[in-house]
Amino acid sequence: MPFKSGFVAIVGRPNAGKSTLVNTLVGQKVSIVSPKPQTTRNRVQGILNREDAQIVLIDTPGIHKPETALNRMMVDELENTLDGLDVLSLIVDASASFGAGDRFALEWIRRFTGPAFLLLNKIDRVAKPLLLPLIDRYRKEFDFAEVYPISALTGAGCFDLVSGWIARLSEGDPYFPADQFTDQPERFLAAEIIREKAILATHEEVPHALCVLVDDFEEGQGIVRMRATIYVEREGQKGILIGKGGATLKKIGTQARRELESILGTKLFLESFVKVQPNWRQNPAMVRQLDWRRQLEQLADLQGPSESV
Ligand code: GDP
Ligand code: MG
Repeated sequence: MPFKSGFVAIVGRPNAGKSTLVNTLVGQKVSIVSPKPQTTRNRVQGILNREDAQIVLIDTPGIHKPETALNRMMVDELENTLDGLDVLSLIVDASASFGAGDRFALEWIRRFTGPAFLLLNKIDRVAKPLLLPLIDRYRKEFDFAEVYPISALTGAGCFDLVSGWIARLSEGDPYFPADQFTDQPERFLAAEIIREKAILATHEEVPHALCVLVDDFEEGQGIVRMRATIYVEREGQKGILIGKGGATLKKIGTQARRELESILGTKLFLESFVKVQPNWRQNPAMVRQLDWRRQLEQLADLQGPSESV
């Protein structure tokens, strides 16, 4: 059988399960997950390698209206996703009721002219008879090429889904080496894992006010030395993040280190700091620092076109 390869994007409103699905299919954490909406800020590519195919899965920030500089970057990330895509997949939480967010997501996918799949997620939490009316409801709104009930958490229905995607891909070589599972630089993934642990350790407004920048990432013999700063917007948030006697920050650091050691396959020496940067989400310069893809492009521009031999 000829090898197939291509790009599949997962879009949907915040909390539908986009990142969970990508992680489950890749078999590695490439995108952070939390019960709090709007965790994913950048477009993340996870690579699903099979003997007969390679699917580059694009996890996207949730579809919502742009408000801050940060939200605008997230919407731009979504727009850039449509280029060169083979299948667009709208994922919805089948256990939640249809709302304004779903309507907005449906409006959004009309921009794509190729095949769009509907994924009804979280079927581990939904009684089967409730699925058919939901499918009808969505089919009335949009002409989906295919519909898959799945559970991103348990993997139910995911095998069929992957076969459905592969059927729509073209013959072609893989885009990435077969042992690569994401296109993110390791230091960015590391910052994301720290952010995930910080989100899980805090609540209310703190998770949204967090960002993590890596100040230093040095790879040595079997060890990575890393320094990271967690930014928040207010003094009170800083206090919450550090916790009594530094206990919360310590817990975040330990959890992040353990997970990163297993992902990177090395020992990790991690130092983390907390700083206040008022209103960073409104600050374009700060938001640009979170956008590693654009940073890499700018670096390439600075270096100019590669010399021909
Ligand atoms: P995203 O915002 O669309 O990327 O959603 P996430 O992947 O971060 O998931 C949001 C929440 O839904 C997390 O708490 C997940 O554990 C949960 N979740 C995702 N998929 C499933 C599923 O299939 N079943 C159940 N029960 N929970 C899920
Ligand atoms: Mg996500």
